[in-house]
Amino acid sequence: MKEIKVHGIVLREDPMGDKDKRLVLLSAEMGKLTILAKGALGAKSKFRSLCSQFCFGEYILTKGKTFYYIKEGTLAESFYELRTNIDRLAYGSFMLEVAEEFSLEGQENRDLLEILFRGLKMETLCQEGMESIPADVTVFRILAQNGYYPELARCRFSEGPEDPDHVLNTDDSVFLPGTGSVCCARCARSGRAGAGVRLSPGALAALRYSIEQPPQKAYAFTVSDEVRRQIHEAVTDYLVEQTEHTYTSLGFIAKITSAP
Ligand SMILES: [Zn+2]
Repeated sequence: MKEIKVHGIVLREDPMGDKDKRLVLLSAEMGKLTILAKGALGAKSKFRSLCSQFCFGEYILTKGKTFYYIKEGTLAESFYELRTNIDRLAYGSFMLEVAEEFSLEGQENRDLLEILFRGLKMETLCQEGMESIPADVTVFRILAQNGYYPELARCRFSEGPEDPDHVLNTDDSVFLPGTGSVCCARCARSGRAGAGVRLSPGALAALRYSIEQPPQKAYAFTVSDEVRRQIHEAVTDYLVEQTEHTYTSLGFIAKITSAP
């Protein structure tokens, strides 16, 4: 049987019966793949370390009728730290869920895999209390790269970025998730923009920074708790509105962040 070699991250693992696991893998070479890992639930399975959520590695597969099957593989990174802390786990799971929504079956997708890998890595390294930032930057970058690049340089009702009647940066602005645009304080007060997410000048600057910078710099900023909350609300409202999809992990994040 013909073998294929792919590199990828396990987005999802579900038990199949008592012994097997069904995996959804985001691979660089072939996008999203559904894989059956025979015997992976067994205590002595050689696939155990390869077949857990978040694992990144090289997978040798064979193609069956419905599934791909794992023949062998090598683990390169387990992102173990994400499983030892509930906040990191929640935001890591959020990234996986968004990557699954944006990945296509059978199509090469190195860019998405790269963004996801970096996001998970940053999540393991981020400062305590800042766990939402790596996930929100990652999701915002995924959106920007997949046809949802937001317009954050000017008020959407202005003549252009320099229009003196629509100044951003000096006062709070409002992010409009329905259009991926922003409006100035004056337009927000006039009520013409409709509902949106209030952004302080710092939050607007951070959102711009996170998509304009190259990947190795995009995560390098620190913000106050208030700004962090505004970023999370803007990114997640934008995601939900544009993809018209419900994300289970967002409900979980809301639960753990509202806990006393
Ligand atoms: Zn305006």
